[in-house]
Amino acid sequence: MNMDRTTRSLLFGTGGIPKRTPPLRSTVDGIGRIAEVGLECMEVEFVQGVKMSPATASQVREAAQKAGVRLTAHGPYAINLNSADPVKVQESKERILQTARRGKECGAESIVFHAGFYGDAGPKEAHRMIKVALAEIMEELRKEKLSLSVRTELTGKVTDYGSLEEVLRIASEIPGVAPCLDFAHLHARTGRFNTYAELTSVLDIVETELGRVALDSLHAHVSGIEYAKHGEKKHLPLQESDFHYVELLRAFKDRSVKGFIICESPDEVKEDDALLLQRSFQSL
Ligand SMILES: [Zn+2]
Ligand SMILES: [Zn+2]
Repeated sequence: MNMDRTTRSLLFGTGGIPKRTPPLRSTVDGIGRIAEVGLECMEVEFVQGVKMSPATASQVREAAQKAGVRLTAHGPYAINLNSADPVKVQESKERILQTARRGKECGAESIVFHAGFYGDAGPKEAHRMIKVALAEIMEELRKEKLSLSVRTELTGKVTDYGSLEEVLRIASEIPGVAPCLDFAHLHARTGRFNTYAELTSVLDIVETELGRVALDSLHAHVSGIEYAKHGEKKHLPLQESDFHYVELLRAFKDRSVKGFIICESPDEVKEDDALLLQRSFQSL
């Protein structure tokens, strides 16, 4: 966990470059847009692969420092640490390492990724496989002296590894690993966790399992979401969804949570929804 920059409160920003970023939607321009509208952080999305050059990464780092925008990074979707094919596991590990290396060059303070799928092996074996691979990744990062927090995301589909219990368990088992709590995914996956009582209970479970430090350096994703029996269908604008985001923000406030709140609403409303979250939180 990166402890040299403490966070005094909740920081709000977008997952990826804000929509209305002129003119070419580069990451550097996105950082400018974040600062211009009064947001505080951005998650650099390497979701289609880590294609950013080291030269661009250092420009991103400089731009973020200059603008006072804090960064995190999201790894590629093509990751499955529980693949039955050892080559795919190896490629997945490499993609996570690339995310960490390039992310660090950008000045990102943590990386998040979806660890894998249950597949035929089932949840128990998936956890075992993912734990082994993740421990090896942490060992490599330690060797390379790359210190940033490594976060497995709470995922939206019941076929994906990453229930609330799983992301907390793996974080408690491997030093340096922490959860990325995607509250839209949690709601989609379970159909629950949409009331103040349920959402504060999540924060209390996090504190019980991982200690107060986990609430002092929380990383959350928030958006509206459409879901069915097997979980997530697609992300929605907050105000078109049934998600009670104000109740979530109230829970954050009452538990004095600190950290990054990344809005993952669809592109066209991404910065508007991030600002909606920020302003709603400030008005509590
Ligand atoms: Zn994600
Ligand atoms: Zn997410």
